[in-house]
Amino acid sequence: MAPDFTFHISHFTFKQKLKTMKLICIGRNYSEHAKELNNPVPENPVFFMKPDTALLLKNRPFYIPEFSNEVHHEVEVVVKINRIGKHIDEKFAHRYYDEIGLGVDFTARDIQQKCKEKGLPWEIAKAFDYSAPLGEFIPVDKLPDVKAINFELLKNGKTVQKGNTSDMLFSIDQIISYVSKYVTLKIGDLIYTGTPSGVGPVAIGDKLTGKLEGEVMFDFEVR
Ligand code: ZN
Repeated sequence: MAPDFTFHISHFTFKQKLKTMKLICIGRNYSEHAKELNNPVPENPVFFMKPDTALLLKNRPFYIPEFSNEVHHEVEVVVKINRIGKHIDEKFAHRYYDEIGLGVDFTARDIQQKCKEKGLPWEIAKAFDYSAPLGEFIPVDKLPDVKAINFELLKNGKTVQKGNTSDMLFSIDQIISYVSKYVTLKIGDLIYTGTPSGVGPVAIGDKLTGKLEGEVMFDFEVR
């Protein structure tokens, strides 16, 4: 019986390895946004993680969770990691991604504020189920300039957040280098690279549309 049991365990582990991925999110990466939340501009990238259960795909509606009265949208450029890496040097970081996307880092701002006051981790404000809508991806070589990507978020057809990745405090390559000192990056991992200013609350019935270089990357409803 023993060999058969071993086979099932290893088979299960193998499947798990293929399917799991993680979301790494960068905080305070645009100085105007750090200022609007009264946060100091950081010396190093600030990162936190969301589990894969945070993903919300295919323009499915986002349901405001019952535990928060103030869920904010944070539109963010998303980098999809395409090879495994640890201690990645900044000058080689560009080899670790070839697609750029757009997503939302939904944040229960009221809960996050309480966590901050108590010096507690942010997970319950950031990592909850479906807190990370993710849209389409564009190959890096189809972008006019990967170091200066224009993106915006429209709420009910009106632009509420507008950014350019050249305004990031830490570039995509610096983020990859920094994060990979601490955490091994694996194929399929996603890095949400931080939000520009203009974050604000969402309400039931809102329609959120994300654009990258003018292309619609996601378009979904808040319920
Ligand atoms: Zn964010």
